[in-house]
Amino acid sequence: MNSEPIESIVIVGGGTAGWMAAASLSRFVANKRISITLIESLSIGTVGVGEATVPNIVDFNRSLGIDEIEFIKATQATFKLGIQFENWSQPGSRFFHPFAGYGLKMDNVEFHQYLHRLRANGEAVELEDYSFSCMLAKQGRFAQPHPNPPTPLAEYSYAYHFDASLYAKFLRDFSVKRGVKHVDAKIGGVDLHKDNGFIKSVTLDDGRVISGDLFIDCSGFKGLLIEGALKTGYESWDHWLYCDSALAVQTRRVGEPVPYTRTIARDFGWQWRIPLQHRTGNGYLFSSRFETDDNAKKTLEANIEGEALTDIRKITFTPGRRKKIWNKNCFALGLAGGFLEPLESTSISLIQTAISKLLTFFPDKSFNQADIEEANRLHNNEVEHIRDFIILHYKLNNRQDTGFWRQCHDMPVPDTLAHKMAVYESRGHFVMYDNESFELASWLTMYNGFNRVPKRVDERAYAVDGNVLKNKLHQMQLSLRNAAEQALTHDQFIQKHCPAKSI
Ligand SMILES: Cc1cc2nc3c(=O)[nH]c(=O)nc-3n(C[C@H](O)[C@H](O)[C@H](O)COP(=O)(O)OP(=O)(O)OC[C@H]3O[C@@H](n4cnc5c(N)ncnc54)[C@H](O)[C@@H]3O)c2cc1C
Repeated sequence: MNSEPIESIVIVGGGTAGWMAAASLSRFVANKRISITLIESLSIGTVGVGEATVPNIVDFNRSLGIDEIEFIKATQATFKLGIQFENWSQPGSRFFHPFAGYGLKMDNVEFHQYLHRLRANGEAVELEDYSFSCMLAKQGRFAQPHPNPPTPLAEYSYAYHFDASLYAKFLRDFSVKRGVKHVDAKIGGVDLHKDNGFIKSVTLDDGRVISGDLFIDCSGFKGLLIEGALKTGYESWDHWLYCDSALAVQTRRVGEPVPYTRTIARDFGWQWRIPLQHRTGNGYLFSSRFETDDNAKKTLEANIEGEALTDIRKITFTPGRRKKIWNKNCFALGLAGGFLEPLESTSISLIQTAISKLLTFFPDKSFNQADIEEANRLHNNEVEHIRDFIILHYKLNNRQDTGFWRQCHDMPVPDTLAHKMAVYESRGHFVMYDNESFELASWLTMYNGFNRVPKRVDERAYAVDGNVLKNKLHQMQLSLRNAAEQALTHDQFIQKHCPAKSI
């Protein structure tokens, strides 16, 4: 076993995954002895979507020492408090998934149990009235969370919407300044070591051969190294996740950007709207089993606002995951590692958490198999829990108006999810496994948004006197509403602190 340190890292691909990897590796493992080379083919280009994030992107940028204002201006970013779901439960319905919790626990009993108690008595109480983020979002406002909020009621997180190509460029400049070599060329071949099947080198179309100790595959859906060369295998989850096609188009901005992503259920899938400072990202994600491309195009065209700035592009994929993201001396990130679908914007977050696993288990030339297996185990666990959360959105729908939604409603779900749903339906309790990306409040948002009411209320919720309870809830709601009304509108906030140049 050769336990010498890694000397050369080759990153294949210059999309969001490639440049996030280059930035992190150049920040955390680069030293004079390690060379990092990123190869991308500008003629092939990137997937060109992936512009809504979740809050850990804020930590990612911070860990790199990136100045937030500089980043926002450079990427035309806006703030994201969560996701607004429209038409999901029923046509015309709406609910908001905030990056935040709701209300406060009382006597160690979760807040939602008190809501269920009041509702069981016929009171009309709205979950969203107990979340600062929901209130801000409803009013189109934004404020940055206070580092030491006076009450846990006002704790919340935020993420960004950004222009993916500008983010890649931003990270490219960051990485190149830190010594990453950038090569624009198409890879034509991959050579393996004869003895152990590890990747030895990649050959560029112009004949150059680039060898390395560690290869990071960020080549997109095809997984040039992890699949093309190493035949790692892919697990399809299309029996649970029916959407496998997307049409995407960018439009001119109309009106002020809202501080959230919109996801609007359509007959055979859903549409996204991602507001940036200079434009809006739009797309229709649909199931090719139920919808033709022509009809999907008509649906998208009928539901965009503002002049189209690009042609409509089609992207197809198999929802699922690579069986292992780390195989031999190849670590796959981004689409090369698998893709569930864009709902809940988890793909960039998974790039980030996978990079963090790579850094935690950063190999030497011996590539310790136990470390590799542990990184794969943790990643697979994480992806399965996200998969379950996404499946829940489809499973809970009450639409029944097309074969797509009926089939989603009727499909059997993974056992891990079935157990969670059964426990919630019985007593409003949340089963949380290790390594869950979505916390209790997110699961509650879904059950509540889809009008799922547990059969029983926690008995302890009845221990609080009814008038005291109503008074407490009233106070919570009032203090949140007052605080939300003080905030600037999202657009005012951006114009005041971080306006990007108009393009
Ligand atoms: C419809 C859709 C919507 C999405 N929305 C979101 C979202 O809102 N939020 C989110 O977090 N994620 C989203 N994603 C996922 C997100 O787009 C990706 O996770 C992210 O863009 C990373 O992509 P990537 O870098 O892995 O691949 P790509 O962007 O495809 O980059 C692949 C790179 O590999 C290079 N390459 C490929 N072959 C070769 C070769 N032979 N030689 C040299 N270079 C090569 C390409 O040139 C390119 O630079 C979405 C995905 C889809 C399909």
